[in-house]
Amino acid sequence: TATTIDGRAVAAKVRAEVARDVAALPAPPGLATVLVGDDPASAVYVRSKRRQCVEAGMLDLHRHLPGDIEQSAAAAVVDRLADDPRVTAILLQLPLPPQLDAAALIDRIPPEKDVDGLTESSAGRLALGRPGLRPCTPTGVLALLDEHGVALAGAHAVVVGRSDLVGKPMAQLLLGRDATVTVCHSRTRDLAATCRQADVLVVAAGVPHLVTANAVRPGATVIDVGIHRTNAGLCGDVDAGSVRAVAGALTPVPGGVGPMTIAMLLRNTVAAARAH
Ligand code: NAD
Repeated sequence: TATTIDGRAVAAKVRAEVARDVAALPAPPGLATVLVGDDPASAVYVRSKRRQCVEAGMLDLHRHLPGDIEQSAAAAVVDRLADDPRVTAILLQLPLPPQLDAAALIDRIPPEKDVDGLTESSAGRLALGRPGLRPCTPTGVLALLDEHGVALAGAHAVVVGRSDLVGKPMAQLLLGRDATVTVCHSRTRDLAATCRQADVLVVAAGVPHLVTANAVRPGATVIDVGIHRTNAGLCGDVDAGSVRAVAGALTPVPGGVGPMTIAMLLRNTVAAARAH
């Protein structure tokens, strides 16, 4: 049965490194999380991000905006944070309410404060292989793979999902590490057959239990990015019950990619502070 890739343990290690790095900086970095409205899942994520930011010795410069805020008012908030020298990093918690144009707001974040790596500039830098801030979730996946000594150069990596937040940057990061990368999405014809070719399978589809044992090559490393709340607790995009018997290694949900995402956010915040 598969080895469990313990994201909590790796994330704790990263957080300890971040705390040391913060202590060595001339001034504490400031993270501005921006939460619009009261989506309960988003509120939970933002609370964890703020708590861990404080625990790492950084300033929590959170802004909570009303769910019915207009575009111009939201833009003004982002602009003020962009100009505020105490703010090292800006994180706009997604999804935003439907009246807001998320892309337009994201692109008001200066690239050097873009800790989610979502601006046009950061995404372009990633695509071109230039230095810049990278999206937290796929960077966290890469850190987990590295920590577990998974060889990427020449390996076949299959990414399920092509979102701007996870799938696309994940594929680019894996390409940057010389993996042979296949990207699957909702129009992919035979998902299971493609996934079965993977040495490394990263699943970020947002569909509970989408990937079952028949889609996994024996011994493959499987990273489950999905998070779903069910009556029975949290589950991922991977059917862990069946996949565990086939995979060589598997991330649990919870306790896999989730904690790594926040750890990478902290690390990006330190990187942003250093670059200032
Ligand atoms: P998204 O909905 O933006 O994108 C989903 C992608 O999966 C799309 O590209 C779509 O084409 C593809 N897809 C959908 N159904 C599919 C199917 N049946 N077969 C193949 N591909 C399919 O979602 P996202 O923002 O990329 O997030 C994906 C999942 O990861 C969600 O469950 C989300 O909650 C989770 N997530 C977790 C973290 C974390 O920190 N662990 C961070 C971000 C997102």
